[in-house]
Amino acid sequence: MKSDEIVARKLTVNGIVQGVGFRPHIYQLAHSHQVMGEIANTSSGVFIHVEGSPKNIDRFCRSLPSGLPPLAQITDIVETQDTVRGLDDFSILPSTAGLMRSTLISPDVSVCDDCLKELFDPADRRFRYPFINCTNCGPRYTIIDDIPYDRCNTSMKNFIMCGPCQSEYDDPRNRRFHAQPNACSACGPRVALHGPDGGLISCENPIEQAARYLKQGKILAIKGLGGFHLSVDALNTPAVERLRRRKHREEKPLAVMSMNLETILDFARIASEEKALLTSFRCPIVLLNKKKPFLLSDAVSPRNVTIGVMLPYTPLHYLLLNQGFTALVMTSGNMSEEPIAIDNDDAFARLSGMADYFLVHDRRIYLRSDDSLVRHVADSDRLIRRSRGVVPVPVFLRRPLPPVLACGAELKNTVCLTSGNRAFLSQHIGDLENSATYDFFCMTIEHIKRILDITPQVLACDMHPDYLSTRYALEQQLSGINLVQVQHHHAHIVSCMAENRIDGKLIGIAFDGTGYGADGTLWGGEFLIADETSFGRAAHLAYIPMPGGAAAIREPWRMAASYLFMVFGEKMLDIDLPMFRKIDAKKLIFVQDMIVKGVNCPRTSSMGRLCDAVAAMIGIRYTVAYEGQAALELEMMADDGESGSYPFEWVSEDGYQILPHQIIQGVVCDIEKHVSPAVISARFHQTIIRMATALCRVIRQDSSLNRVALSGGVFQNAILLKGLIRELSADRFEVFSHSLVPTNDGGISLGQAVCAAYEL
Ligand SMILES: [Zn+2]
Ligand SMILES: [Zn+2]
Ligand SMILES: [Zn+2]
Repeated sequence: MKSDEIVARKLTVNGIVQGVGFRPHIYQLAHSHQVMGEIANTSSGVFIHVEGSPKNIDRFCRSLPSGLPPLAQITDIVETQDTVRGLDDFSILPSTAGLMRSTLISPDVSVCDDCLKELFDPADRRFRYPFINCTNCGPRYTIIDDIPYDRCNTSMKNFIMCGPCQSEYDDPRNRRFHAQPNACSACGPRVALHGPDGGLISCENPIEQAARYLKQGKILAIKGLGGFHLSVDALNTPAVERLRRRKHREEKPLAVMSMNLETILDFARIASEEKALLTSFRCPIVLLNKKKPFLLSDAVSPRNVTIGVMLPYTPLHYLLLNQGFTALVMTSGNMSEEPIAIDNDDAFARLSGMADYFLVHDRRIYLRSDDSLVRHVADSDRLIRRSRGVVPVPVFLRRPLPPVLACGAELKNTVCLTSGNRAFLSQHIGDLENSATYDFFCMTIEHIKRILDITPQVLACDMHPDYLSTRYALEQQLSGINLVQVQHHHAHIVSCMAENRIDGKLIGIAFDGTGYGADGTLWGGEFLIADETSFGRAAHLAYIPMPGGAAAIREPWRMAASYLFMVFGEKMLDIDLPMFRKIDAKKLIFVQDMIVKGVNCPRTSSMGRLCDAVAAMIGIRYTVAYEGQAALELEMMADDGESGSYPFEWVSEDGYQILPHQIIQGVVCDIEKHVSPAVISARFHQTIIRMATALCRVIRQDSSLNRVALSGGVFQNAILLKGLIRELSADRFEVFSHSLVPTNDGGISLGQAVCAAYEL
């Protein structure tokens, strides 16, 4: 080729382009388009220099963004002219430590089809090897200890590759080129089976032996990708019940894992969007509607119309399920509320009272990551728990922000670090009041600061003085970093705005459990007029006493009593309610007394508590075994053929104050008429949807705002979310809701980070 026919171009590519097979992909692309050049990781992204005929260069550049390896995600490409160097090959330059710190790290990825084929191919050298992986699949985030993402900085550092593995690793044309966890049975991690006391059980095939134990109804602790699972055969009711007793998880639904979609169809319905979720490389737990009669044990997901299901995501899971199970319960390996065990010795210690046997391996997990949980509602996938398979993919923001560390809420905690236009939400951390979870919170902050190479200049936290995340932030502030405290529901709304990449003033509906209000009361039924810098309260549910404080969250009948007292006064006990026959009269009088005297009765405007109260009044649930149970069961039982509703009202006072009287009277009147709880539940949900839509119309008239953001834990309720999106859209509102980020307190840290950055 004559040099005057040759042009050169430089491309700088940003996004998830490291450890995902991006460079070999470009290498092959360059060869197929006959262009010369080189590719390298630099501190400002992946840098590509290409030279060749103008036609070939154009073709190369045009085809670059398409046909990417499954994990790669390009956020931007900057293209400039470059000087021709007369190269006669295309080469991958070695990565330089320290230069590639800003490149994004991939999440953990479920085993790919190519690896699965090899796993079950008797002729393959990795036949039945439980840690088979390649550039397109396998562990990432959970095995990284430091950056750059090279084998020496992962928990694979102790496994020296054998000859065949090393040559795959070195060959740019191989699927395992630079696949850091590359291994085989000769050189890589191994499985082992241990007894209840941690002693090694010698056996020919630990996975087959584990399967035999499961079939006998034993409880197995199984080390996975982001931590241990506790597992039993999902058809075996006594085994499931024994697991619940030992784990102190009496009623909360348990997730299951099945070999393939056909098997899942034996016990659950799968819509096409749900199929896409189940089979995606993220491989989350997907909430599916159960089929009736339900094939699995009813103890798996009692009093619930849905069941959480996932497909296997590691080769080990495939080998286990291949032993012939319809479904295995796969619940996190912990005592309720503790963080999941990730370390073998830690598992032997903490899970010894729960598991009969341990199926472990010797590849260390550096950072625990629970299974992600998602539900498809109102035409979108809604992440309820954002963890394995998703983290650390950032939320891409509308504008670049300074580096902020947001410490999140108390329950379902996540933290968030920002850098430029990226917001990195951590994996699900959990409920901080548990001390082991708090340690995990502190450790995660240090770990992700290190692997993302971000030094925060600003701290953000909730306004609640007793949240441990707030206290943590206050302690860090002592070292001189600026701290911004963000009101809980303001953070919820801004979180929704951030993930939808919108800014400016809008109407924010925050329907929530409880969050600390700007006036010191507990908010949660809020209509805010908000942007990133400030908010005003346009409307809220009228305050009501929460008799006993936190006890009223655990015992929804207290909220029912409080609402009934507000509406009927002392005459409430004359009403013929099933609840009054179930709750000790002395307790009722005692609670009534607390309300009258205002003793230990914090005031709340929470929508979650109103749902709890209605659930108790109609006799669904007087006490709960886990957060949100009463409201969830209220949702689950609603009659979807019913379209009636109750009257509602508000007064102009402190913005608009929504009075619950007519709603409660409507519910009580229906109970007295023996209307079924399913119909009452449906009418109650319709009432909230109509009331909120009507209020938005009034607020639009006052403020000329036409955009509405929906956030807060109550929007996990599919009826309310679907209904409000439908009604508001029909009224020509522009409606925004959560999809990538949890609507519950797991999404709070994102809103905190954005608010704090704007405040500065
Ligand atoms: Zn693979
Ligand atoms: Zn090997
Ligand atoms: Zn909240």
